[in-house]
Amino acid sequence: MEEIIVTSFYQFSDISEVREEMQKRLAGLEEIRGLIHLTPEGINGMASGTAEKLDELRAVLADYPHFDEIDYKDSVCPEHPFPRWKVELKDQTIFYKEGYVPNGRNHSHISPEKWHELLTGEEPVTVLDTRNYYETRVGKFRQAIDPDIKVFTEFSDYLDSCDLPKDQTTLIYCTGGIRCEKAILEMEEKGFEKVYQLEGGILRYLEKFPNQEFDGECFVFDSRVAVDQELAPSQKYWLCPHCGEPGDLKMDCARCGEEALICKSCAEEKPVCSKNCAYHYKLQKK
Ligand SMILES: [Zn+2]
Ligand SMILES: [Zn+2]
Repeated sequence: MEEIIVTSFYQFSDISEVREEMQKRLAGLEEIRGLIHLTPEGINGMASGTAEKLDELRAVLADYPHFDEIDYKDSVCPEHPFPRWKVELKDQTIFYKEGYVPNGRNHSHISPEKWHELLTGEEPVTVLDTRNYYETRVGKFRQAIDPDIKVFTEFSDYLDSCDLPKDQTTLIYCTGGIRCEKAILEMEEKGFEKVYQLEGGILRYLEKFPNQEFDGECFVFDSRVAVDQELAPSQKYWLCPHCGEPGDLKMDCARCGEEALICKSCAEEKPVCSKNCAYHYKLQKK
């Protein structure tokens, strides 16, 4: 069977004039799955398919000068990690407080090589994760500060309440880079003097430096749940049937005896394999 490639990409660029036409062309592509958001701010997407099919996707995007710097981050998967193919018109590429739209290209990006050098160097740096708590729990840079947020929009409140040194070099990162493109704008506005963002995010770092400064696995928003240090689909995590968050606990279901793949925080109250078993288990206990 031919290998499936999973690619993720974004570029901020005003595509309001062309996005409806793009939507038609992209939606017409066959044997591709994934999700693309076309917004007045630019494009944000994830797609899976054979190398040949993804070339067709890249060829459509290459027809638009708006995407001259689009950066595809690829990994492989034995099967499609997305259930369907959707191309949607949305207001924002990544949902955040209004008013933070990157317009310059390459706003304080640093390469994975430079990032690695800074993390292992002598100069004191603050490393800040811009992702959500269920993502950082699966893996993060060893020395990173975890703001423990539920959704990206809370990052803004975190900036107001945190007491990070604003005059020290601050390095921010996320999965593929798009969240940092917005976060950096607000951080600079709030007085952080030297902020840099990891170009291509964790995905690009792991491509160059597996098993180095990043610990654990990288959460991804598709059926793989996470990718490991080699960017292969996780063998360790699944989505807990009770809370929907990544879990890594295997046990025998307290009701039906089948294997239950759940998360640690649900284990005490719901040591069962499914929502259905959870329902009956609760009745049983009364
Ligand atoms: Zn759970
Ligand atoms: Zn069960």
